[in-house]
Amino acid sequence: MKPRILVVNDDGIYGEGLRPLAKALSSVGEVTVVVPEKEQSAASHAITLHKPIRLRRLGERFFIINGTPADCARFGALYLLKKPPDIVVSGVNQGANMGADTLYSGTVGAAKEACFLGFPAVAVSLVQPAEKHFDSAARVAREVTRLVLKNGLPPNVCLNVNVPDRPWTSLRGTVLTSLGKRLYGRQHVPRLDPRGRAYYWMAGHTPKGIPTPGSDLAAVRAGKVSITPLRLDITDGDALVALRDWRWEKVK
Ligand code: MN
Repeated sequence: MKPRILVVNDDGIYGEGLRPLAKALSSVGEVTVVVPEKEQSAASHAITLHKPIRLRRLGERFFIINGTPADCARFGALYLLKKPPDIVVSGVNQGANMGADTLYSGTVGAAKEACFLGFPAVAVSLVQPAEKHFDSAARVAREVTRLVLKNGLPPNVCLNVNVPDRPWTSLRGTVLTSLGKRLYGRQHVPRLDPRGRAYYWMAGHTPKGIPTPGSDLAAVRAGKVSITPLRLDITDGDALVALRDWRWEKVK
């Protein structure tokens, strides 16, 4: 029995990483693609609850919807597939999803939604694609998919994979990492549109990163594939203990 693989993304139907990913995964299992009709980068984990979802079928196992990346995971896994997927792979995103990017990322949001629904899930991103080695990232995704299908993932954990933009032979191995620190611009740049009305561009420059040892940022800077396990439960265990000393009885 071939594994059932659901492919989703946040870059939409024209995302350059979509077809290389679907093609690479087709050697591992039966691939169904469900992607947004428009680009939805930075859509995070949003789902559509107050508008109808429209579906267009472009091929036997190729669908687009007017929804978010997380909608694609949810609608694809729970409705469009005849049987539940064995794995959901999100990407390949056109750009890194490291550190705090993972909070904003629609690519990661879709993987988290699949994970939340109980399916093994992997998000794959190509870091700063100038040379556009989506083929390298797709091949990495294929090998990671094989490993996840073989070993499974702990409950409520998904994998976040970042691949340096290099030819396959120049990738320098794979490391397990923690989320690093990404620095987003804080400025809001005011401009005038051609009709004299003000508009604003948020966050200025593309985010920079601090490549602390063991982080995703350090791994890709060293030319390595970064794999970070992400959990859905973001409760802080240390703070849960530390905050016990506060006088909570004053609250109520
Ligand atoms: Mn994207």
